[in-house]
Amino acid sequence: MSDQLIKIEGLHAGYGGIPVVRDLNLTVGRGEVVALLGPNGAGKTTTLLTISGLLAPIKGSVDVLGEQVDGLKPHLVARRGLAHVAEDRSLFFDLTVDENIRLGLTGDRASRKAAHERAMDLLPILRGLSHRQAGLLSGGEQQMLAIARALVSEPKCLLVDEMSLGLAPIIVERLLPIVRTVADETGCGVLIVEQHVHLALEVADRGYVLNHGSVVLEGTAAELAGDRALLEASYLGETSADQ
Ligand code: ATP
Repeated sequence: MSDQLIKIEGLHAGYGGIPVVRDLNLTVGRGEVVALLGPNGAGKTTTLLTISGLLAPIKGSVDVLGEQVDGLKPHLVARRGLAHVAEDRSLFFDLTVDENIRLGLTGDRASRKAAHERAMDLLPILRGLSHRQAGLLSGGEQQMLAIARALVSEPKCLLVDEMSLGLAPIIVERLLPIVRTVADETGCGVLIVEQHVHLALEVADRGYVLNHGSVVLEGTAAELAGDRALLEASYLGETSADQ
């Protein structure tokens, strides 16, 4: 398998046959953190839904871990090693923290135990909350739980949609480095959608800015963070990728 864990070429994706993402080319490599940025409605969530098989592409190809996922059911994409932390966190509020985490565990008893321990080492606050109902957790704790449940499946690719939604920047500053650590320590390729652009670029290797469904800017995180005026212009739709 190549080092490109996610490879998207010429993707048109959308709803009812109408594309809201057009001609998207994007890659995520092994051990890489890639930020997918852009204003509201740009098509970021649509892109993640298409990668995880929840939405069929209208045109173009989506390759995850060396296999086309077009038409593959989401659970089969997950079984290949892709975990998706959705914008709504998709937790079972009536279940405890521990029960939610157990839903993500796979493999034999020993590997499940090891995966659980690794996730708890990354998110130690959850150890003390294991018997609490997910619905009673704070927003930040719920986000940590959603990440932990994704991590215990030991993903090879991780998609995280708006980790920071509803959270104070200080919590986001604590959470974002976790995906960096996961990428560095396990080789997992991570694609994050994030509104806290500068915090995202601090942990990312590369980034893409989507606007109205098209990539208007891409580059290394240092390039994007280093040219604030260009980055802001890309959000306002005043630039294009070939500028
Ligand atoms: P945000 O940052 O606000 O979450 P986004 O970049 O993730 O935005 P998407 O959620 O991908 O954007 O939405 C892209 C476009 O697709 C928007 O115009 C949105 O209204 C539209 N859209 C999203 N979901 C649907 C749907 N189920 N049916 C029809 N249109 C949709």
